[in-house]
Amino acid sequence: MPILVMKFGGTSVADLERIGNAAQKIAREVERGYDVIVIVSAMSGKTNELVNWVETTSPLFDAREYDAVVSSGENVTAGLMALTLQEMNVPARSWQGWQVPLQTSSAHAAARIEAIPRDNLDQKFAEGMRVAVIAGFQGISAEGRITTLGRGGSDTTAVAFAAAFEAERCDIYTDVDGVYTTDPRITEKARKLDRIALEEMLELASLGAKVLQTRSVELAMRHKVKLRVLSSFEDNDETSGTLVCDEEDIMESNVVSGVAYSRDEAKMTLVSVADRPGIAAAIFGPLAEAGVNVDMIVQNISEEGRTDMTFSCPTNQVARAQDAIEKAKESGEINFHGVVADTEVAKVSVVGIGMRSHAGVAAQMFQALRDENINIKVITTSEIKISVLIDRKYMELAVQALHDAFELEKAG
Ligand code: ADP
Ligand code: ASP
Ligand code: MG
Repeated sequence: MPILVMKFGGTSVADLERIGNAAQKIAREVERGYDVIVIVSAMSGKTNELVNWVETTSPLFDAREYDAVVSSGENVTAGLMALTLQEMNVPARSWQGWQVPLQTSSAHAAARIEAIPRDNLDQKFAEGMRVAVIAGFQGISAEGRITTLGRGGSDTTAVAFAAAFEAERCDIYTDVDGVYTTDPRITEKARKLDRIALEEMLELASLGAKVLQTRSVELAMRHKVKLRVLSSFEDNDETSGTLVCDEEDIMESNVVSGVAYSRDEAKMTLVSVADRPGIAAAIFGPLAEAGVNVDMIVQNISEEGRTDMTFSCPTNQVARAQDAIEKAKESGEINFHGVVADTEVAKVSVVGIGMRSHAGVAAQMFQALRDENINIKVITTSEIKISVLIDRKYMELAVQALHDAFELEKAG
């Protein structure tokens, strides 16, 4: 039988009633003749609560134990979903990551999926099981420890299963009815896209649009998974939601297709470091080893052989970054006068494949921010995106101003 993957995010399984609602959508696909692999997230708010318990217990926590704790939310929903389906006479059972087993790297809290052997599920499907309910977000390392795939990782679980089982499609059910030009919670003018190019979705996701985890889009690209985002609260048909597809399959094209933001950014500056060959390696090597995800980097011009080095990283990694930098200083690898951490910044980005062939997007972006009197602290660009770091209090205003400036409410 053809296989369909259906993923339900946290708000879509937030309570028993919603689990029931999702189960009905699953039963409908079973009636249509699919064997279904369902991926579930933890109930909304649960993972945040678990993360908070870990951070309160141990600020510089052992990541293996973090994973043991934060993966548990998904176990509850997987079991409840299987029970709900059984009550509806749909043959179903639940699987935790290690039972599949979904094998991952040992990079705890940000593990990568290495393999999903099919044997166990295939055998159960052959015996008449119609729905395999998989706890998303989690796997097992070669060392036999429970791992997680990073926040939002159930999307990646879903796409990886779709690839491994050659599913007809991977449907991501969530609390919005598709991918929009920007987060519809920030501006009412956000427009739902019928289609979006994989490459643009990849940029938007990596720049903060949390509707899909970045790794899930990468996997869909690599394995040519047909990926769709749609609402778990509405009745859907074949044309519902947003199809994340190849660039060639898209008719409309705006130069800029979306605006993304990331609220949880911090800007750190090492004041007065010696400007000598190897200094960047001496700073960013220890940060990488400490697992700090450095994003933007700016080195100022130097005066009398000393310079300031600024970088951005997620707010919740500031303590880790400070620790790594202080240790590097103590060991004599680097020398600086002080570290300044600004945790009140946000990153706002515009994305579009049309930028490859259009000049002037950056100027238009900077003008729109200027018109709102928003100061830019750091800028980075790539072929299809421009990002700026600004004061967090202006983040929503910046997103709205850019959405207006590039007329994203209108289809191209
Ligand atoms: P789930 O729990 O289903 O995984 P998430 O909260 O992770 O859902 O992702 C869905 C949310 O992503 C939406 O509620 C929306 O606020 C946010 N979002 C951010 N950017 C976009 C965008 N461009 N299009 C749609 N939703 C977006
Ligand atoms: N529950 C996990 C999280 O909140 C994974 C997911 O929902 O995708 O990050
Ligand atoms: Mg999500």
